[in-house]
Amino acid sequence: MRRSELFLPTLRETPAEAQIVSHRLMLRAGMVRQASAGIYSWLPLGMRVLRRLEQIVREEQDASGAQEILMPTIQPADLWRKSGRYDDYGKEMLRITDRHDRELLYGPTNEELITDILAADVSSYRDLPLNLYHIQWKFRDEVRPRFGVMRGREFLMKDNYSFDLDFAGARHSYNKMFIAYLRTFKRMGLQAIPMRADTGPIGGDLSHEFVVLADTGESAVFCDKALLEMKMPSAELDYDSDLQPVVDQWTSHYAATDELHVPEKCPVDEGRLVQGRGIEVGQIFYFGTKYSEPMGAVVQGPDGNRVALEMGSYGIGVSRLVGTIIEASHDDKGIIWPEAVAPYLIGVVNLKSGDGDCDRACNDLYGFIQRAGLSVLYDDRDERAGAKFADMELIGLPWRITVGPRGLKNGKVELQARAGGEAQEMSLDEIRNWVTAKAGV
Ligand code: ATP
Ligand code: MG
Repeated sequence: MRRSELFLPTLRETPAEAQIVSHRLMLRAGMVRQASAGIYSWLPLGMRVLRRLEQIVREEQDASGAQEILMPTIQPADLWRKSGRYDDYGKEMLRITDRHDRELLYGPTNEELITDILAADVSSYRDLPLNLYHIQWKFRDEVRPRFGVMRGREFLMKDNYSFDLDFAGARHSYNKMFIAYLRTFKRMGLQAIPMRADTGPIGGDLSHEFVVLADTGESAVFCDKALLEMKMPSAELDYDSDLQPVVDQWTSHYAATDELHVPEKCPVDEGRLVQGRGIEVGQIFYFGTKYSEPMGAVVQGPDGNRVALEMGSYGIGVSRLVGTIIEASHDDKGIIWPEAVAPYLIGVVNLKSGDGDCDRACNDLYGFIQRAGLSVLYDDRDERAGAKFADMELIGLPWRITVGPRGLKNGKVELQARAGGEAQEMSLDEIRNWVTAKAGV
């Protein structure tokens, strides 16, 4: 993409309404614009990041054996009356009436809708296990929407629902998601710590929150230092194998949010206890037959008896993750995107647009990078070098290639990493080789 054509309205000034750094940078880098409190439009740069996160989530869900579906944002109120949650959910639920006076709602989550689908279409234990996910917008009329996309009212969530015949199966489904979540966040460049959690309005008795440590996190968290040094489950670990020992390795270390943490009962001595603040990026629940029973999601078991499905549900805050990654990775100049989620991998800066040699070298390089299959933003504008650099630093692309008249005279360009800022001169051949190596072709 050429910068001159990209809709990227960056701001020099720090927007007054933004209290935390990720919100400030998302506004300044032209990623989002607020439509109303807690409701955002995603502009091209923000959208590209959101889509990349979504794709990582999707790939890890697919690898775990979950299947993608798409349920609507609008749901009938009656389903929620069946589960008994229509009244419980209170003012966070946005309730809507259509022209026929039918009561609808904008889904804050989807347990009811998915259970209803299963109740109608699954009848035998042979249809199980099943794990269905979707990536869809949710609405929760939060009392205090704040911190930009971190606590929005409309936000993008990946939610999935597992259905098993018995507890052992449900436990395995839960464990699969536990591992899938570790892998998902790791791929995004985040260290997310699973913490024992309160099951809240979703109900049930087994739950973990995945929390990224950050000063701006909304909850106080406590965990054993050992968790910060844990190794990821090996890539060879198969989802069909017994995952319990791996999950136990993680859950054997103490980790809890303030909701469950009782200082007097904390088993970790002070020297090993990490106390900080955290951002909840995901949560997983096992809740048995809480929804399947009232909603009639029942199958015939191998012995002919009818059994209510054992269920779990699993959420990832996809839009919240955009802010979380920025909280975790920025400096005073702007965002520092990890490669795996960056809106573009490479920025090419033309120091003298309009100069024949510079334009030619930039165009060649721009085409070469695109043909190699890498994403690139080419700043071809007729702007001061300082303004172009500041812009590139603000939007945080992992690599910058600078092409200027002086360097070109010696056949050189400059490659700079956004993280760490290390720069090196390279010949045109060397930079092409670097691009080819990056593309892995
Ligand atoms: P919180 O405690 O932060 O209000 P929650 O426990 O109510 O979240 P879940 O029902 O577990 O949220 O939803 C799954 C994920 O969706 C959360 O882990 C979080 O990452 C994300 N999420 C929840 N509420 C919001 C929100 N208002 N804005 C953005 N993301 C959210
Ligand atoms: Mg939660």
